[in-house]
Parts: sequence; structure tokens; C-alpha cells
Amino acid sequence: MLRQVAEGVLIHQSEFVQSNAVVVQGRAGVLLIDPGVHGGEMAALANDLRELDQPVVAGFSTHPHWDHLLWHTGLGAAPRYGTARCAAAIRDELSEAGWQARIAEWIPPDITEQISWDLFGLITGLPAETARIPWDGPQIRIVEHQAHAPGHAALVIEERGVLVAGDMLSDVLIPMLDLDDTADPIEDYLAALRLLEAATGDVDVLVPGHGSIGGADQARARIGQDRAYVNALRDVPGASDPRVGPAAKEGWDWVAGVHARQVQQLAQRSERDGNPG
Ligand SMILES: [Zn+2]
Repeated sequence: MLRQVAEGVLIHQSEFVQSNAVVVQGRAGVLLIDPGVHGGEMAALANDLRELDQPVVAGFSTHPHWDHLLWHTGLGAAPRYGTARCAAAIRDELSEAGWQARIAEWIPPDITEQISWDLFGLITGLPAETARIPWDGPQIRIVEHQAHAPGHAALVIEERGVLVAGDMLSDVLIPMLDLDDTADPIEDYLAALRLLEAATGDVDVLVPGHGSIGGADQARARIGQDRAYVNALRDVPGASDPRVGPAAKEGWDWVAGVHARQVQQLAQRSERDGNPG
């Protein structure tokens, strides 16, 4: 069930919104990025890694959203890293009573049954401005930006030509802006796309948090598509995007609802701020 996408870089794609877990082979074991959602899938992943004699020596969560923060006992007790902002956001969330019920509101009930919260969100924040993941393996550059979620990070596995994009650059999900606690979510998102564009120079493989793996051409195409979507959010809400509406991939019609909610929230923001645009 593990698929190699570059030398020493393997992917497991979940049935849950095409979530991609990324395994990077190091010298003494693997780094596991965004391990997955279903407990059974993570247990199977742990088994596969055991059979390959590859212990998990480090983990990384690209951002503080529930579907990127789960873990399984079978994966062991390696440190699980995130950016300082990511770790602070999840620490705040977990410190408030009732966090589990609040998160569960976002999750379809049939999925909730397959989730274990035992090791949820135990993220070690790396000091702000940390350039690379501290581990014994190929160098992995952290490209932190303010879009989608606090402390969101994409990762560039330079020697392998792989960009792990977190919840950016998906072929099935539209850009989902961080509309909480941000002054200018649209400008933030456009700035993040510029950072990712600069990072794709030497990249041959794009791995989004959800959706299809792509090559360099797809990385460029998706940056263009996401930029067009975000510009349209600001200038012409209601403009079309292939991921919203009749051209959406089968089973992804709900993305139209995400889009509608986003347009509505942005309208409320500009009304509240007394900003006509
Ligand atoms: Zn997310």
C-alpha cells in the first residue's frame, strides 16, 4: 500500500479525502509527515514499516488541523514536530475543555468511529525560523507561510526533488483560507503561493495533503489555478473553478459548499470592517 514517488520517498493515500501520508527514508529510520486519519490505516502503515525494518524516528504535522495531527501507538514514540505557530495553536485548542466535541463537529460520524484521539496533537514546536527538520536523513527545508492555518508549513525534500505541500496546491480542494485571526487572508494566501512558486524551482514531484500526486508541470498549473481562484474571491466572487461545480471530480461535490461558505464569510468580514472591497 506504500507507493514510491521519488527515491526514498513513499506515499500512503487514505480513502478519507485522498489524504496523503508521506514516508521519507533516513539513515536509521523514517520521517512520517501527516500520518493519516483512520486508526486501521495507520496501524497497517505501522505494520508495513515494521516489515521494512524502518522505525519511525520523527514525525511532522504540516498544520494544526485535526486530520493532520493523529497518531497511532504502533508508530512508536518518536518526536512529532510542527512549526512553533502550529504547536501553539494546537496547544491552545487542547487546553480548552470540550475540544474533542468541537473538533468532532467537523467530522462525519462514520469517520469519528475510526479515529483514536489518544495521541492527538502531541506536537513539539520547532523554534521560530527553523530552516530544516532536525533529523538524520535527507535535508528537508521548511517553507512556513500564513495561509490555510496558523503556522502552515510546506516541506521541500531537496535531494529528492519533492515538495510536500500540506493543504495547499490540491487538484480536488479549492484554496481554503484561514479566516480566523488574520487581517488579510487573501493577501496572505497570495503571498504563500509566491513562496511555494519560488520553492518549486527544483521540484519534480508535488505531494498535496489531499488529492493527486503531480509532477513539476502540475505544481505550476496548480499554483496558477489557486492564484486565479483567490484573485476571483477578492474581485469576482462566483467566478468558476473546475473544482467547484459540474466539473468537480466524482464524490467531491461538497467542495461547492466549502466555496459558498468561504464567499459568505469574506462578505461578512468586509461588511464588518466597513470595507467595500
Ligand atoms: Zn487543513
